[in-house]
Amino acid sequence: MSELLHNHLAGRWIAGTGAGTTLVDPVLGDELVRVDATGLDLGAGFSFAREQGGAALRALSYRERATLLAAMQQVLQVNRDAYYAIATANSGTVKNDSAVDIDGAIYTLGQYARWGETLGERRFLPDGEAVKLGKDASFQSQHLQLPTRGVALLINAFNFPAWGLWEKAAPALLSGVPVIVKPATATAWLAQRMVQDVVAAGVLPAGALSIVCGSSAGLMDALRPMDVVSFTGSAETAAVIRGHRAVAQHSVRTSIEADSLNAALLLEGEAPDGEAFGLLVKEAVREMTVKSGQKCTAIRRILVPEALYDSAAEAIGARLAKISVGNPRNDTVRMGALVSRAQQAAVRDGLAQLQRETQTLHDGATHALVDADPAIACCVGPTLLGTRDADGASLVHDTEVFGPVATLLPYRDAEHALSLIRRGQGSLVASVYGSDAAALARTAVELADGHGRVHVISPEVAASHSGHGNVMPQSLHGGPGRAGGGEELGGLRALNFYHRRCAVQAAAGVLAAL
Ligand code: NAP
Repeated sequence: MSELLHNHLAGRWIAGTGAGTTLVDPVLGDELVRVDATGLDLGAGFSFAREQGGAALRALSYRERATLLAAMQQVLQVNRDAYYAIATANSGTVKNDSAVDIDGAIYTLGQYARWGETLGERRFLPDGEAVKLGKDASFQSQHLQLPTRGVALLINAFNFPAWGLWEKAAPALLSGVPVIVKPATATAWLAQRMVQDVVAAGVLPAGALSIVCGSSAGLMDALRPMDVVSFTGSAETAAVIRGHRAVAQHSVRTSIEADSLNAALLLEGEAPDGEAFGLLVKEAVREMTVKSGQKCTAIRRILVPEALYDSAAEAIGARLAKISVGNPRNDTVRMGALVSRAQQAAVRDGLAQLQRETQTLHDGATHALVDADPAIACCVGPTLLGTRDADGASLVHDTEVFGPVATLLPYRDAEHALSLIRRGQGSLVASVYGSDAAALARTAVELADGHGRVHVISPEVAASHSGHGNVMPQSLHGGPGRAGGGEELGGLRALNFYHRRCAVQAAAGVLAAL
C-alpha cells in the first residue's frame, strides 16, 4: 500500500484511522500516496489553533510576522525541486505549468513578506483618521482594524495546490490569524509536503499552521463566531459553504472564489494582420493550454468583430495544432494531463454539451498523445469551439468546461460585445485587446463592475504584460456574481478579510494614546 500522509493538527502530526483515498498519477496511472482525515479531533485542533497559534501570532508585530513569511519563503525555495517532482506526478503538469503554481506561491509569499515589513512594529492597524463626533473636537471616533481572534479555514481547489495554499495563508498569517488548510483531495500531496517542510523548519509558533488532508467532513462544523473561511472551488460546493449553519448562525465570514466564464475581447477597428489581433490569438492559445485549461481565470469566451470571425478561427486553430499533448516528462510536450479521470470525464461531458450549440473549429481529438497511453493518461487535446449565433447560444455563456476548451463568438458592435460578456453574470477577469487608448479605457470601465480584474493589452505592453490568467498579488483576485463575490490579494487589501473593524469613540487624548 502507498504511504499514508499525516495531518498536522493541534501541533502534532496525526494519521487518519481509515483506509484513506489514494492519489493517482494522471498520466501513468500509478498509485502515489494516500490521504485520510478519519478520526481526527477537529474541535480540539481548531481550539488549539485559536488559543495557542492565535495568541502567539498576535503577540508579534506585523514586521515580525513578515519575517516569518520571509523565512517560510526560504524553506520553500530550498525544497523547490521536490515540489516540481510531486507536481509532475500528482498534477500531470509540464514544468512551465508547475512553475505557475510553485513559483507563483513562493513569489506571493515573498511579496507579503516585503509588504508586511512596511507595517512596522504595530499589532493593529489604524483605519482612516479620527473624526470629531460633536461640535468641538473633544470627543472623536477612530476606526481600528484588529486581527480576528479565530482561525482561518482555507479550503482549496485541486488546480493550485501550492499557490492556492500560500496566496491565502500569507495574508492570514501576516494578519496574525492561524490557518487550517484543507487542500483538495486529488492533489493534496504538494500542499501537505510544503506544510511539512515549513513545520519541520520550526519557523512558526505551534498552532499557527495546520493541515487536514482527505474528507472535508466536520470542518465547517468546527467553526466558531470569530473564525473565517476562505473557499476556492466549484459553484456547487460554494453553495454548500454559504448555506452552512456556521455561516448562517455564527456569522462566520466567508470569501468565495468560484468558477467563471472569463472573456477576451478584440476591439473594433483592428486588422487581421495587426498587432492587437496577434496578441489576442497568442493569449487565447496560452490561456487554453496552460495547466490544460484548469485555471479559474482561463479565457472561456473569445469575442471578435463579425468580420474577423473566420480569420480568428484560422489563426487560433493553427497555433493550437502545434501544441503537443502527453507525458510532461517528455521535453517536447507542451501540455500535460488533466488532474484525474473524473476531471477528464467532466471535461468530455461539458465539451459534448457545448458542441450541441457550437461548431468545432479545432478538434482536440486530432492531437495524438506523446509518450502516453490514451487508455490511461487523463489528457484532452485543446479544442476551439465557435458559433456565429452568439445571442442564440446559451450554454457557452453559462457552462464552465474546466479544461483546454474555449468558444469563439462574433459581435456586431461595442454594445453587443459588452452585453455578451455580461451574460457571464460576473467573472474573475476579462481581457481587452486593441490599439486605441481611449476605446480601451472606455471598455475597461464598462467591464469593471462585473469583473475583479480587467486586463488591457495594447501593443506597447506586448512584452511586459503579466498575462490574462496570471494572478499577481499586487492586483485584486475575485469577481462578483457567479465568480463567487470574493476578494483576495490586491496587496495589503487582502489583510482586511482577516481583521475586524472597530470604531473607538473617546477623548482626543485617549485616541492619541492608542
Ligand atoms: P470543489 O469540488 O468544489 O472542491 C473545492 C474544495 O472544497 C476541495 O478542497 C474539496 O475537498 C472541498 N469540499 C468539497 N465539499 C465540501 C464541503 N461540503 N465542505 C467543505 N469543503 C468541501 O472544486 P474543485 O473541483 O477542487 O475545483 C474546480 C473548481 O474550482 C472550478 O470550478 C474552478 O473554476 C474553481 N476554481 C476557482 C478559483 C478562483 O480563484 N475563483 C481558483 C481555482 C479553481 P475534496 O477535494 O476533498 O472534495
